[in-house]
Amino acid sequence: MTTLEVRDLVKDFSLRSGLRHARFRAVDRVSFTLVPGRTVALVGESGSGKSTVARVIARLEKPTAGTVTAVDADGGRIGGRAYRHHVQMVFQDPFASLNPFHTVEHHLVRPLKLHGRAHGREDLRRRAEQLLERVNLTPAASVAGRRPHELSGGQRQRVAIARALAPGARVVIADEPVSMLDVSIRLGVLNLLARLQREDRLAVLYITHDLATARHFSDEILVMYRGRVVERGAADDVILTPRHPYTRLLAAAAPDPESGRGRAELLAGNGAPEPATATPPPADSGCAFRDRCPHAMEICSRPVPEHTAGAGERSHTALCWLYADEARGARPAPAGTG
Ligand code: SF4
Ligand code: MG
Repeated sequence: MTTLEVRDLVKDFSLRSGLRHARFRAVDRVSFTLVPGRTVALVGESGSGKSTVARVIARLEKPTAGTVTAVDADGGRIGGRAYRHHVQMVFQDPFASLNPFHTVEHHLVRPLKLHGRAHGREDLRRRAEQLLERVNLTPAASVAGRRPHELSGGQRQRVAIARALAPGARVVIADEPVSMLDVSIRLGVLNLLARLQREDRLAVLYITHDLATARHFSDEILVMYRGRVVERGAADDVILTPRHPYTRLLAAAAPDPESGRGRAELLAGNGAPEPATATPPPADSGCAFRDRCPHAMEICSRPVPEHTAGAGERSHTALCWLYADEARGARPAPAGTG
């Protein structure tokens, strides 16, 4: 059993254009804990920083500040090579993450060998086939001999999931694992991940822009906007009674199951909210959402106090002046907050 703790994670990138040199804060003071058997969803538009969080956890990027710690059941810290066994990624694009020249078996045998999970040709082959069976790729012996281009997108993503399990993963970071797949097979792949999680008591970080699957497949939801977590809480609470104006905008833009069109789209006659990357906010440390927020107030140009909750709702919090005021009883909550 492995727990992954992310504390006050900050990631800056430097941007250079001509002679100008600027720093861009992609991730700003993000904290959460992944525990065995539970899923945390990180939700936000593209450019909100959620993939950067994943890449730092996967050690593809170094954090500018903050820590990522994997801890075993006895509280012992898991570092170095063991960290790489325990913490595995499933990426958005299964095609890009598989080598077109190698067979499915090769993709599984490599991590099995590297992490000492099997020894000898026969054992390795058998273990690889067992992994394929676990992800419902059968007959395993025949799938094992194929190359990525001989598989469908869904099958490739199942191979990527099997490969993540190969080293004995305890923590799985799934970054938009189904967004490039055909809509008709997305649920199948997410259900597979959910089953493997139950069977292996995996701790899962599910990164997505899709509120509906975030609610269905996770216990806790963190909503990110321009690098910050702006709302967090139990999945149902965040979706049914969103507190942060940004979460409400996202929820309003989510496709209506009846018509398939976004409700916001129907109302406003245009598309989903603009990407969070559009214009970086002024570096005055006020609320980064205020240029789009229907509730923006003068005070919103000042740094927003840390996450605040309404009375009796300690675990459902938002980073927003509305609730800071509400907490002091000075301002009623905006309509529709429940
Ligand atoms: Fe809107 Fe102000 Fe809350 Fe930011 S702090 S989301 S601008 S009300
Ligand atoms: Mg991404």
